[in-house]
Amino acid sequence: EGVDTVIAGRPNVGKSTLMNLLAGCEKSIVTSYAGTTRDVVEDTVLLGGIPLRLADTAGLRDTSDPVEQLGVLRSRSRVEAAQLVLAVFDSSEPLREEDQQFIEMLGDTPAIAVINKNDLQSRIDNSYIQSKFKQIVYISALQGSGLKELQNAVQQVL
Ligand code: GDP
Ligand code: MG
Repeated sequence: EGVDTVIAGRPNVGKSTLMNLLAGCEKSIVTSYAGTTRDVVEDTVLLGGIPLRLADTAGLRDTSDPVEQLGVLRSRSRVEAAQLVLAVFDSSEPLREEDQQFIEMLGDTPAIAVINKNDLQSRIDNSYIQSKFKQIVYISALQGSGLKELQNAVQQVL
C-alpha cells in the first residue's frame, strides 16, 4: 500500500536528511561523506494524507568502490520502477554532470524537483531546472522547512 516513491539524486544533496525528516526519525545515516548511503532504506509515511512508500537510495555517481557500485545499481533500478521520484538537488552548488545525467534518466516518470539546502546561498541554475521539471519545491531538510510546498506538489502530481 502507498505510492512507490524514490528519493534520488547525486551524492551529498541531502536525500537521507529528507528521508529522516519525512520519517520523523533517524532511519538513514547522514554524514558529509559522499557515498554514505548504499542499501535502500525504506519507510511508509503520510504526506498530506497520502501514504508514500519512501525509498532513500545511494547517490548516483560513477565510483570505483565496489560496494557503492552495487548501491548505485539498486538506486537506478528503483528510479526506473518508481511511481514518483523526489529528485533532490543542492541549491548551494551549480549543477554537476551527475545531476544532469540523473535528470536525463528520469524520462516520463512523474518527478518533483526538490531543491534542498535552501538555508544556504543559492548557486544552482534555476532556469535549467525549470526547463526540465513542472513541479519544483525549495526546502531545507536540515531546518525542516518547505514540507508544506512538497506536500502540495505531491498532491498535484498524483
Ligand atoms: P545524501 O548523500 O544525499 O543522502 O545527503 P545527506 O542527507 O547524507 O547529507 C549530506 C550533507 O549535507 C550532510 O552533511 C547534511 O547535514 C547536509 N545537509 C543535508 N540537508 C541540508 C540542508 O537542508 N541544508 C544544509 N545546509 N545542509 C544539509
Ligand atoms: Mg544518503
